[in-house]
Amino acid sequence: MAKIIVVGGSLGGLFVANILLKQGHDVTLLERAAGLLNGRGAGIVTHNALADALREAGIQVDDSLGVLVKKRVTLGSDGTCLADMDLPQILTSWSRLYHLLKTNFPERYYLQGKQVKSVSQDDDKVYVSCEDGSEYTADILIASDGIHSTIRAQFAPNIKPQYAGYVAWRGVCDEDYLSKLTLDTLFDYFGFCLPQGEQMLGYPVAGLNNDLRPGKRRYNFVWYRAAPESDELIKLLTDDDGIFYPTGIPPLKVSWRNIHDVREAARTLLAPQFAEILEKTAAPFLQPIYDVRSDQTVFGRIALMGDAAFVGRPHVGMGVTKAGDEAIAIAKQIKIFGATPLALEAYSNERLQLGQDVVARAQYLGRYMQSQGKKVEQEHLKRNANTVMAETAVDISALLASGKAVPDSSDASTSV
Ligand SMILES: Cc1cc2nc3c(=O)[nH]c(=O)nc-3n(C[C@H](O)[C@H](O)[C@H](O)COP(=O)(O)OP(=O)(O)OC[C@H]3O[C@@H](n4cnc5c(N)ncnc54)[C@H](O)[C@@H]3O)c2cc1C
Repeated sequence: MAKIIVVGGSLGGLFVANILLKQGHDVTLLERAAGLLNGRGAGIVTHNALADALREAGIQVDDSLGVLVKKRVTLGSDGTCLADMDLPQILTSWSRLYHLLKTNFPERYYLQGKQVKSVSQDDDKVYVSCEDGSEYTADILIASDGIHSTIRAQFAPNIKPQYAGYVAWRGVCDEDYLSKLTLDTLFDYFGFCLPQGEQMLGYPVAGLNNDLRPGKRRYNFVWYRAAPESDELIKLLTDDDGIFYPTGIPPLKVSWRNIHDVREAARTLLAPQFAEILEKTAAPFLQPIYDVRSDQTVFGRIALMGDAAFVGRPHVGMGVTKAGDEAIAIAKQIKIFGATPLALEAYSNERLQLGQDVVARAQYLGRYMQSQGKKVEQEHLKRNANTVMAETAVDISALLASGKAVPDSSDASTSV
């Protein structure tokens, strides 16, 4: 039995901590937040690999995981259906996954209010210092401390999140607030709306307390909108008291003026069904979209995983699934090589290229967003409803396995 520290108690950290604990290791998880984490109920697209990772973590996967959606639709700005596509998928929510993983992990090993300040290592051990003065020693450390990872900043300071030039407005709207038109033409579907240079998508998720009953569910939306870094982004990340949050504005701090503006834009640009959803969502919030592409994820006895290692833009709908895959890979290599640098090196060999490919795929899917405001000669950057529906948040395991995350330029004429 090895002593293993996991830094970060969100989905990535909980995946690996649960799997390693099940393997019989002495796992301590350090999470900087003091209370329950909050994903604002935002939706998560699932893939088979995500269900596999949950099972590996010791969680039974059944119909209560999420809402089964059978079809995708793209609505025009007048609300009519432009195109549709059969594509069954289970849509769950961040909070559902967090609840499943957190309740499965013993509280005594999940230490909160533990902000890791720095990490060091020698030939035998890794040493962790927290802001509250506490210190920990272990055989290896898994860093799943997110996009702004403290541990990546210490060991690979050159790898930084790169802003993609646009943000995602997000939110969830209660099903029973919605009109019959929206319920009949959008609610049961993975829906899209594609005004020039923008992309709105949404899908149903469970309601309060994972309620999956019709009438009790919610519609989750993600609206990608260009926001130049020099002006619009600063405005969006500044609250009503003038405080600027450079790394992301807390959901409840989003300015009412910006919420007003995005609702107004929805009325002008989007299908009325989506505009209604935005209007009736109590507290829309936003996240800037970043790429993180690491060229090294293992440093002796320390390994990065989840968003700390790679962030692919959410068009791939892969972040959580990727974290689950990485957790499985880490645990598998530890089973073979023990909790040693050798095991972490083997994990890196298995996953580094795949992580980079996910980032490349996500950049490819997001390219048209970056063309906003620029002259785009390439016809292939034009959106196409069928292509967007076929490529967004689908299982790309076969593409990754074949090394074809991004099509050859000859294929790209059909891309978005
Ligand atoms: C708009 C949008 C839509 C998305 N949709 C999907 C989707 O459909 N499907 C999907 O799979 N993924 C999706 N994702 C991505 C997914 O949400 C992330 O990839 C995933 O949640 C990352 O999990 P993580 O555990 O690696 O990082 P995080 O959730 O960021 O967790 C990091 C944790 O580390 C803690 N921490 C940070 N620093 C320290 C420190 N110094 N000491 C201790 N603790 C620390 C933090 O408090 C936090 O709890 C989406 C993302 C966005 C922005």
